[in-house]
Amino acid sequence: MSTVAFIGLGIMGSPMAAHLARAGHDVVGHNRTPGKEGPLREAGGRAAGSVAEAVSAAEAVALMVPDTPDVEAVLRGPDGVFANAPAGALVIDFSTIRPDAAAALAEEAGSHGLGMVDAPVSGGEAGAQAATLSVMAGGSAADFERARPLLDTVGKTVVHVGPGGAGQTVKAANQLMVAAHLQALAEAVVFLEAHGVDLPSALDVLAGGLAGSAVITQKREKMLTREFAPGFRVDLHHKDLGIVAAAGREAGLALPLAGALAQLMASARACGDGGLDHSALLRGVARSSGLPLDRPAD
Ligand code: NAP
Repeated sequence: MSTVAFIGLGIMGSPMAAHLARAGHDVVGHNRTPGKEGPLREAGGRAAGSVAEAVSAAEAVALMVPDTPDVEAVLRGPDGVFANAPAGALVIDFSTIRPDAAAALAEEAGSHGLGMVDAPVSGGEAGAQAATLSVMAGGSAADFERARPLLDTVGKTVVHVGPGGAGQTVKAANQLMVAAHLQALAEAVVFLEAHGVDLPSALDVLAGGLAGSAVITQKREKMLTREFAPGFRVDLHHKDLGIVAAAGREAGLALPLAGALAQLMASARACGDGGLDHSALLRGVARSSGLPLDRPAD
C-alpha cells in the first residue's frame, strides 16, 4: 500500500480518491475550493490545504482536474507537484487534456526525476462511483506497471495504449464517439416522442439491438425526465471536441461528424447549457425543431 496524493476532488475525483482510500492506501486529497473532502475522509483519507502539502510524502500523485491549463498549474510552479513531490514519485493524470501537452508534461516530469502516466477515463460519474471505469493509459511500460494497482482500483478495463500522450489520443476518440451516440439518442428520443411512441418501451428494445450503447443505459433517464444535472458537463465535452478538432487538424484529417458535433456542443453552451449534463444535447434538438424544452405532456 502506498501514500497517494489526490488533486481535484470533483464529480469524478471524489469517488476515485475514496476507492483508493478504501483499498488501504494512505490518500491525501486536495481541492482548489475547500469543502469537497467529505467522501474521502469518510473512506479513511486525509485532506491537505495545498498541492505542496498533499504531495510532500507521496509515492504516487493522482490528478483529476478539468483542463490542460489546470493540469499545468497543478504540476508546475512553486507550489506544484514538480517542485514538491519526492524524487521517484509517479504522477498519474486521470484528467482529459490535449495529447501533445500530456506528452510534453511526461518529458518534463522525467527531468524532475518523476515518472508519469496519462490515464484518462471513460464511464462517467456512475463508472467512477462503481470503480468500473475504462482507463486508457499512456507512458512507459515500467511506469504503467507501477501505476497498474491504482488503476485497477478505480477501473475495470485498464489498457496500456502506448507512450506518453497516447492515452489522451484514445480518450479524444472516445469523446468523439460518445458525442455522436448522445446526439443520435437525442434525435431518436425527439423523433419517437413526435410520433407518440411509448418511449421507455422503445428504448428497451433499441438498447438490446445493434443500436444499443452505454450511452442509452446511462443517459436515457436524464433524457426521459429532462433533468440534466451533471454528470459530465457540456463545458467539458466542448473542451474535448476542441481537442479532437486540433488533433485531427494536426494529422491532416477531415472529420466532418466531429466538426458538426463540436458545433452542436458549442451551440448548447452558447444557449446557456454549459453547466448541464452533456445529455442536454436533447435541448438543442428540441430548440431547432421548435419544440418546448420541458418534458412533453403525458
Ligand atoms: P469537476 O467536477 O469540475 O472536478 C474538477 C475538480 O478539480 C474541481 O473540484 C476543481 O475545484 C478541482 N480543481 C481545479 N483546478 C484545481 C487546482 N489547481 N488544484 C486543486 N483542485 C483543482 O470535473 P469532473 O467532471 O470531475 O471532470 C474532471 C476531469 O475528468 C475532466 O478532465 C473531465 O473531462 C474528465 N472526465 C469527466 C467525466 C464525468 O463524467 N464527469 C468522465 C470522464 C472524464 P473547484 O471546486 O475549485 O472547481
